Amino acid sequence: MGVTGGVGQVEQAAVDAWQLKASCRGPQAEIFFPPAHAERKDEKLQREDRAKSICRTCAVRAECLDYAIRIHEPHGIWGGLNEMERKQMADRRVG
Ligand code: SF4
Repeated sequence: MGVTGGVGQVEQAAVDAWQLKASCRGPQAEIFFPPAHAERKDEKLQREDRAKSICRTCAVRAECLDYAIRIHEPHGIWGGLNEMERKQMADRRVG
């Protein structure tokens, strides 16, 4: 996960607060996003499973997922879901 633009100062402070409690902070953060090189499907699934297992124990999972859906984050694992899973959840919320 990571912070992208488009949020005001007050919201940014709230984002900073929950991100300080994120279980993905530190060296393992890299498994939450695709690598720079091409990734095979089985490698992607393994990487995502490892990231999702960290999300399952994260104290701020709900905040993280809400944030990623709200800003339409297009990449990586946020709140235990990958980009396609978040899109499906967002579509269900709208529909
Ligand atoms: S839910 Fe997952 S991606 Fe979000 S802060 Fe927690 S560990 Fe990181």
